Amino acid sequence: MRCVTTNRDKYVKYINPRRGYADPRYLNVNPIQRGGILTEEAKAALLEWCDGYSVCDFCPPQTPRLDKIANPPISEFYRDLAEFLGMDEARVVTRCREAKFITFKMLGKAGDYVVLDSLAHYSSYLAAELSGLRVKEVPNSGYPYYKVNPEDYALKIEEVIKETGKPPALALITHVDYLYGNMVEASKIAEICHQYEVPVVLNAAYTAGVSPVNGKELNVDVVVSSGHKSWAACAPTGILAMNEEAAGRILKPSAIEGDVTRRSFKFKEVALLGCTVMGAPLVSLMASFPYVAKRVQRWSEEVEKARYVVEQLERIDGFRQLGLRPKMHTLIHMESASLYEVSRKHKRRGYFLYDELKSRYIVGIQPGLTKHFKFNVYGLSWDQVKHLVRSFHEIAEKYGIEVR
Ligand SMILES: *Cc1c(COP(=O)(O)O)cnc(C)c1O
Repeated sequence: MRCVTTNRDKYVKYINPRRGYADPRYLNVNPIQRGGILTEEAKAALLEWCDGYSVCDFCPPQTPRLDKIANPPISEFYRDLAEFLGMDEARVVTRCREAKFITFKMLGKAGDYVVLDSLAHYSSYLAAELSGLRVKEVPNSGYPYYKVNPEDYALKIEEVIKETGKPPALALITHVDYLYGNMVEASKIAEICHQYEVPVVLNAAYTAGVSPVNGKELNVDVVVSSGHKSWAACAPTGILAMNEEAAGRILKPSAIEGDVTRRSFKFKEVALLGCTVMGAPLVSLMASFPYVAKRVQRWSEEVEKARYVVEQLERIDGFRQLGLRPKMHTLIHMESASLYEVSRKHKRRGYFLYDELKSRYIVGIQPGLTKHFKFNVYGLSWDQVKHLVRSFHEIAEKYGIEVR
């Protein structure tokens, strides 16, 4: 048998891949990448804490749990994190989807319903599935605005009550969706759900960490978010923040006992399987936190950039922004029928757009797509925003598309 270690070079070469993305000359406008760029502080912290279970050397023996570690200040960070999101308790888990799964699992019983918006991320559906829950979708208005109507949450809750005789176990609100970057009226939806005493989970994967999000002001019970998407942290990191009542149900201590040994683990939080992120990714999130807490205050300027880009790109014949107007978020979905027409005759087909953008040092728009495409301008400087706009205008003109 061939020894697998002879393939060593195959793996080692990935250490310096120059994906074309890590190269600082490139702008990566992939929607999922803009909020996850690390601070210099986080990069330095990563090196320091890179080995295995690095933070576990500092676990207090009397209270052996990740959130009890005082130095590095994980315990204090969790308190600050909860306060930052206007919640009472916070935990760091591996991903936003894990935070949703934990919440669904602990707030629901098998067979219960979760009411969610029809623009929810696929992982919201999978979190429900793995928790044994069924879903009831709140529809959206479809092309071109894809608006989710807050009142429709009431209709869906009524539907669940009619079908099962009781309200759903919980309601999920996607604060800003990954498809159109639409922001919903979270506090209005939460108010409607609370009239039925349904706990509300806010999926802030695309909002918390880049924009100000206060769970208490929005009147939600749980806030979940994604560290690698929106908190200048590396993967995998997710945020689970709860009000006191939800925390009481979600952070239940373990109750199991060994039948022979009588061993028990009453200090461990069962849904977290004791501890979650025990090293470098958590420290990257912590090291970026002061920067993140400050950057959310600049959100209105980020939205201004998004509106500018939409205005400038819609000068191109056949371009139309999809989703709600005006933009309230930096994720932009553009319909571009004129580029599709070009692609039908181009020898590179839909890939011509990717080629044209890449030659202008812009990456992150899905290769092959021209009918419509998504991108995110979060954190671009005004110079970079203008370079992006100029590039699209140049490409349009090169292929004979009018720029008004
Ligand atoms: C990106 C995204 C997720 C996934 O986040 P992970 O941290 O990778 O699990 C979940 N929900 C929404 C709305 C997202 O945009």
